[in-house]
Amino acid sequence: MPKFEGKTALVTGGGRGIGRAICLELAGQGANVVVNYRSNSATAEDTVAAIAASGGQAIALQADVADERGVTALFKAVISQYGGLDILVNNAGITRDNVIMMMKPEDFDIVQATNLRSCWLCCKAAARIMMRKRAGSIINITSVVGIAGNGGQTNYAASKAGIIGLSKSLAKELAPRSVRVNAVAPGFVETDMTADLSDELKDAALGAIPLGRMGDPADIAKAVAFLASADASYITGQTLVVDGGMVM
Ligand code: NAP
Repeated sequence: MPKFEGKTALVTGGGRGIGRAICLELAGQGANVVVNYRSNSATAEDTVAAIAASGGQAIALQADVADERGVTALFKAVISQYGGLDILVNNAGITRDNVIMMMKPEDFDIVQATNLRSCWLCCKAAARIMMRKRAGSIINITSVVGIAGNGGQTNYAASKAGIIGLSKSLAKELAPRSVRVNAVAPGFVETDMTADLSDELKDAALGAIPLGRMGDPADIAKAVAFLASADASYITGQTLVVDGGMVM
C-alpha cells in the first residue's frame, strides 16, 4: 500500500520549484495533494495535471498565505474538499536580497510576512485540526542561510532562523497530541529563486558544496516525504539539512 494512502497534504507555494517536487513526491506515494499558489495559476494547474497524469489526486487552491484571511479561506477549502489534513508543508517563500545599508524596511517586512508569518498562520490553522485528531505532521522549509547566515540576506536569514525556532517550540507544544513538527533546510537548489544569481555567485556556491553539485528539488522532496511518513514517527523538533554537505 502506498505510504500516504488516504492522507491529505497541503503544500504552500506548491506550483513551482521545490514545492512542486514535494507535491509530486507526496502524490506519488498516495496522498491527496493541495497545491497552493499565490499568483501563478498556470504552474499550479500544470502540477495538478502532472499528478493526475500519473494516477494521483490533487487540486490547486489560490491563497496568499501571508494574509490571515487567505489562510482561513484556504483551510476551509481544504476541509470542504478532503474532510481533513494530515500533512502540512510550509514551503512558500521569497527573497529580497541586498546589503543592509541598501535594504529598505519594506524588503524586510515582506520577507518576514511571506516566509515566517505565513508559516505561523498555517501552523496555527493546521494545529487546530491535527490536535483534535491526535495525529499529523508539519514540515517547515527553512534554509541553511537560517543556520549559517549569508551576507546580503539579513531579512531572509532572520525569517529562516525564525522558522527553526517556531518549529522547535511548536514541536514541544504539539508532541503531547502526537503531532510532529520538523524543518528541512535546503542548501543551494536549482529553481526560479536561484536562476537569476550571477555565474560568479553560482560558481562560488558550487565550490562550497562537498558533493559537487547543486541540489535538485527532488532531493528536498524525498527528505520532506520521509519526515511526513510513519518512518519518522519518533522524530520531532529537528532540522534536517539537505545541502550536499555545504554546512556541517
Ligand atoms: P520559487 O521557485 O521561487 O517558488 C516559490 C513558491 O512560493 C512559488 O510557488 C510561489 O507561488 C510561492 N509563494 C510566494 N509567496 C507566496 C504567498 N504569499 N502565498 C502563497 N505562495 C507564495 O522558490 P523555491 O526555490 O522553490 O523555494 C521554495 C522554498 O524553499 C522557499 O521557502 C525557499 O526559501 C526555500 N529554499 C530554497 C532554496 C533554493 O536554493 N532554491 C534554498 C533554501 C531554501 P507563485 O508560483 O504563485 O508565485
